[in-house]
Amino acid sequence: MTVQDTNPAAVKPAHRLKTGAEFKASLDDGRQIWLGGRKLDKVTDEPALAAGVDLIASMFDDQFKPEFAEATTYNDPASGELVSRSWQVPTTPEELTARRKMIEYTSLKTAGTFGRPPDLSPAIVAGLMAHREAFKEKSSMIDGCQPDFVENIEAYMDFGRNNNLTASESLAGPQTDRSNPKAAEMAFLRVKEARADGIVVSGAKTVGSIAAQANDIFFTNLGGLTTTPPEACVWGAVPINTPGIKMISREMVSQPGADKFDHPVASMGEEADQFIIFDNVFVPKDKIFNLGDPTGMSWYGPVCVFAHWHVLTRLAVKAELFVGAGQMVLDVLGTGKIPAVQLMLGELIEYAQTLRAFVIAAEAQATMTAAGVLTPDVSMLTAGRLYSIDNYPKVIHTLQEICGQGLVMRFGKAAFENPEVGHYLQDLLPGHGVSAMQKELLMNFIWDMTSGALAGRVALFENVNSSPAPRLRARLFEEVKREAFVDQVKTIAGMDW
Ligand SMILES: Cc1cc2nc3c(=O)[nH]c(=O)nc-3n(C[C@H](O)[C@H](O)[C@H](O)COP(=O)(O)OP(=O)(O)OC[C@H]3O[C@@H](n4cnc5c(N)ncnc54)[C@H](O)[C@@H]3O)c2cc1C
Repeated sequence: MTVQDTNPAAVKPAHRLKTGAEFKASLDDGRQIWLGGRKLDKVTDEPALAAGVDLIASMFDDQFKPEFAEATTYNDPASGELVSRSWQVPTTPEELTARRKMIEYTSLKTAGTFGRPPDLSPAIVAGLMAHREAFKEKSSMIDGCQPDFVENIEAYMDFGRNNNLTASESLAGPQTDRSNPKAAEMAFLRVKEARADGIVVSGAKTVGSIAAQANDIFFTNLGGLTTTPPEACVWGAVPINTPGIKMISREMVSQPGADKFDHPVASMGEEADQFIIFDNVFVPKDKIFNLGDPTGMSWYGPVCVFAHWHVLTRLAVKAELFVGAGQMVLDVLGTGKIPAVQLMLGELIEYAQTLRAFVIAAEAQATMTAAGVLTPDVSMLTAGRLYSIDNYPKVIHTLQEICGQGLVMRFGKAAFENPEVGHYLQDLLPGHGVSAMQKELLMNFIWDMTSGALAGRVALFENVNSSPAPRLRARLFEEVKREAFVDQVKTIAGMDW
């Protein structure tokens, strides 16, 4: 059972977990969403969105299954209740490892196609918790509303944990003329009115992945310290059904309703990116984490540490799926003894092992923040994410290549079952030790992961979802301390300057 029980006399539930059905019911809340010019009554009225919702709902149900309980839930030390591991804030290496198991779980569940599964935005809140000391000294710089940021961060963590909440996060602003700072400013989310009980904001956020399929939206503006006007220095969270929020969905790219055989991954639906209008949206005072302070905005990078660890871990899991699928291709095509083919699989293995190594290194070099939160090493995360961006297209290409014609010559279950032509396919296309249909199922999986419309959107996502490569390189330049390396050169070369 869930949880928003305000009666202190009521017996507390032993857990704070939602079932899949409760999660689905929570989305039927009057949220406003348009798709292809059509307003949806409910988010689940669109099959691709509904299939994605079903997939997320199955993650809620998994919390109650013994085989997933360890990865997806933990006992909250404060309440003694069983809660979602998404909302765990790691304070020890063991907790960090346990929290990673949750990332691995959601990554496998979605075959890595959801970059913003339900445990992603809690990772950002965990980042706020980790760096909340920095917000202690800060106060609102907008007259009329004076939230307590640290109190709000802690309360939001509790709120999310106690309600098994799913949130989306959007920081990117609408794409306008980037040569004109005024153009970007125009679309910034801005405070229109500040009151004692909260603020009213207007503007837009973009590519809010999963926003239509979540409960809350966690928002801020991506801006520079010098270019963001005080009224756009705002950071907060509201329910996605808050009056004034309108979502305009991009076109769907998955294959809802398709037979699982034809589209093993794309039939599971998608996380749908939304353009999100804020038209005079009220944000209560207790859901505001920064207001008017440009130096508060500069904390967004550090605060994303757990989210970036999530991205890297998911990519490592997906890379391992690529290796598994690649090995199966060699097995079913009988190409595994050809040295050139082995080298191609070696390339996939190199990619997967390297990403895994970055995850391990980031955790091994984790540091404790002043607030007592153990955070993965940022420079390892940045280098790992950069490596993944640089190599993702090549790895996809290699996986496609080892499949040969099989990736294109796919016919679907109905063709195999057709009495007139199915037997030709069955007889003429078997693989090494597998039937033609078994071989095709593997190719269908790889198609969905590398080549179909869903895979195209996912590849775009991997490329820029949390900063494109040039910005990551700039981050590395900022983050990695080089004095010790310089000293080593000087020592070896005998330079005394
Ligand atoms: C499928 C998808 C899902 C996403 N989901 C989310 C989400 O859930 N939440 C969220 O907040 N964001 C999300 N993003 C947005 C992502 O954060 C932005 O795409 C990213 O920050 C790049 O910003 P932009 O797209 O506005 O690029 P633009 O600013 O329009 O720039 C276009 C390109 O120019 C180059 N460029 C521009 N400025 C620079 C610079 N200063 N240095 C180097 N190169 C530069 C880059 O190659 C960049 O990709 C998503 C993006 C995609 C494609």
